[in-house]
Amino acid sequence: MVGRNNEKTVPTGRDKAEQVLQSAIEEFHPAIILASSFSLEDIVLMHMMSKIMNDARVFAIDTGRLNEETYQCAEEVRGATGLKIEWVFPRYEDVQKLEQDKGLFSFRNSLEERHECCQIRKVEPLLRVLEGQKAWITGLRRDQNVTRTELKHVEIDDTHYGITKVNPLLDWDDQAVKRYIEEHSLPYNSLYNIGYTSIGCAPCTRAIEPGEHPRAGRWWWETPEQKECGLHVSYPVQKNLSSNT
Ligand code: SF4
Repeated sequence: MVGRNNEKTVPTGRDKAEQVLQSAIEEFHPAIILASSFSLEDIVLMHMMSKIMNDARVFAIDTGRLNEETYQCAEEVRGATGLKIEWVFPRYEDVQKLEQDKGLFSFRNSLEERHECCQIRKVEPLLRVLEGQKAWITGLRRDQNVTRTELKHVEIDDTHYGITKVNPLLDWDDQAVKRYIEEHSLPYNSLYNIGYTSIGCAPCTRAIEPGEHPRAGRWWWETPEQKECGLHVSYPVQKNLSSNT
């Protein structure tokens, strides 16, 4: 079983998800790409995409601070789906300046400094990838956080060039995702087995305790309204970046 909680049966919305995904890929490929952090949701989507089109596009951002388990998972999913993973990286000069000026853990100092790190390591690379795309796909779910309750299956993403944003799993819940993974014997990040429920960069993610919100382990020192990295909810861009994108 994936993770700790697996006791109840729930509807999956699987047909809807596959329909949304297939329509989007047929309409936009090759200018449509999945943003994968190798979450359970992303693995479900990669599996579905590989069935629709064997050269469906997937990218992942190597922030430089990922867990070893995430890299391991990425390789296993690549093998299981046959999909190429387009790895992208932050601009080295921005990371270099950040670390030289502020050290390796500046994101713990304040919300502004946390956003600065996410901006450099995640948001800027995302903008670079999405520039020129017609659509992107995410594994976002409405029930993940208070910031995600207004999601739609297909929406215009005004934060990212006005391209189309596709959220096939938005009405899935935890059990539906885990069941799909298990039914298809897909690999997954082993951190889920030790209490992690939402996995990002290593220093900003921890396992949760029973009863805690699934995203409680992300930036656990911040409030729920703040628990976004800027990939899906925009915040003011730091002004000391070398790039304007
Ligand atoms: Fe930096 Fe943490 Fe954001 Fe990763 S999650 S980019 S380490 S602040």
